[in-house]
Amino acid sequence: MPVFSPRRYQPPFSPVQRDAAPMRAFTAAERSIKGALFGCRMCGNCILQETAFVCPMTCPKGLRNGLCGGATPERCEVDPTRPCTWYMIYDRAERLGREEKLLEINAPLDGSRVGHETWIDMLRKWRAWEMGPHPLEFFTDRAKFTQEWEAYFYKLRQPDWWQGDAQYHPPAYEKPISQLEAHLRSGAFVATAEIAPPLGASGEIIKKKVGWLQGYVSAANFTDNASASARMNSMASSKICLDAGLEPVMQLQARDRSRVVIEADAMGAAGLGIHNLLCLSGDHHRFGPNPMSKPDQFDMDAVQVLWMLRRMRDEGIYLDGRAIKERPQWFLGAAASPFGAPPKFEAIRAEKKVNAGAQFIQTQPIFDYDRFLDWMEALDKRNLHDKVYILAGLIPLKSARAAHFMADEVPGVVLPAEIVKRMDAAGDKEGQQEEGVTIALELIEKLRRTPGLNGMHIMAVHWEEIVPRLIEESRIGSQ
Ligand code: SF4
Repeated sequence: MPVFSPRRYQPPFSPVQRDAAPMRAFTAAERSIKGALFGCRMCGNCILQETAFVCPMTCPKGLRNGLCGGATPERCEVDPTRPCTWYMIYDRAERLGREEKLLEINAPLDGSRVGHETWIDMLRKWRAWEMGPHPLEFFTDRAKFTQEWEAYFYKLRQPDWWQGDAQYHPPAYEKPISQLEAHLRSGAFVATAEIAPPLGASGEIIKKKVGWLQGYVSAANFTDNASASARMNSMASSKICLDAGLEPVMQLQARDRSRVVIEADAMGAAGLGIHNLLCLSGDHHRFGPNPMSKPDQFDMDAVQVLWMLRRMRDEGIYLDGRAIKERPQWFLGAAASPFGAPPKFEAIRAEKKVNAGAQFIQTQPIFDYDRFLDWMEALDKRNLHDKVYILAGLIPLKSARAAHFMADEVPGVVLPAEIVKRMDAAGDKEGQQEEGVTIALELIEKLRRTPGLNGMHIMAVHWEEIVPRLIEESRIGSQ
């Protein structure tokens, strides 16, 4: 077990091209020292100073910008035999007073650096850049030394092709890009709904569901192989929805996609007229069916995807610096998990996503309204309410069995015992469905009166026909 980090989940990286023999010996020495101290995987892109000296590459998803939605204080959602790396980072950063350091948007790995030594490289760059810090100043001018130290390490971990920072970057356009954005800007309490992409090759079921939802919601989300299970892809489903007359929100997850494919898919979506993109890290393959894919399928995380796509849209450049002639039009969104980690930690993660480019947030389902308010307050303390539209997730419970499943099996969801009891006591199938609708309507009543909340996202998967009733009976749009 390393001194400062949890144990590694995967072995250290090998370089794409081996160094010459003397350098390999040096690399091996560096690997053993940093392995013992930090569980280092030789990613070659060290950000330990930003992560309170806990190595983020020990996280099974390799997340470099914060925790995932299923993390708990006790264990990692992927491998419950280990603690969550990011909990450790947040905890230590809080104790050391370094939380604000966690806001800097860290780059994905540079493949040409992985597996190589970094110490000699650091010295080489320090000499070449001629920018300090100068060792003598440690004794003669500590303030200057510290400033130069920070500037040097910032340059080191933020290469020219990334330039991540901790600032908010408002979108660089005026007119709304999509109907969803226009509705949110109008100040209405907006509803979106989720449609599960079909298991088969026919789009007829999407068209049928679009028929149910049209006129009730501003847009429909299409999940992107959620729970690591294959279905019709999100882009094709979104296009079928668009052609059927309803605006889609295409979910775009980082799992299984290299940065090249993420750029290409997002660009393809814009070319097809799909302008709402919800950027996610994605569930680990552990949550999918067998046989499981090989692990380590994350080239980027959600924050990095948002940062990259925002720059493609607003600055007109691909990650590799090539110019984009016709810039894509995207209204960018992110997910949030109000019940995952303590609200103060989740708020840091949300701020990072907003700074990176998220313009709307759709949350995990809300059942515990009071805890949801704690999260909203934590976001308010970070001044996020004026920078991002927030849509609260809502799942109408279809059965007592579904309630138990949500309560026991779904990471990041908190379902109060009282709700489970109500569902258990609701009698037969029809009675349970009615109780599920009643609970949802009670919740909507509270949500629509919540300051800072802009709408709700209804996830009535395989029960989409209930959405019109929820919208009509809650009189959303008529307040
Ligand atoms: S719970 Fe999520 S963020 Fe934490 S270590 Fe596991 S995969 Fe990484």
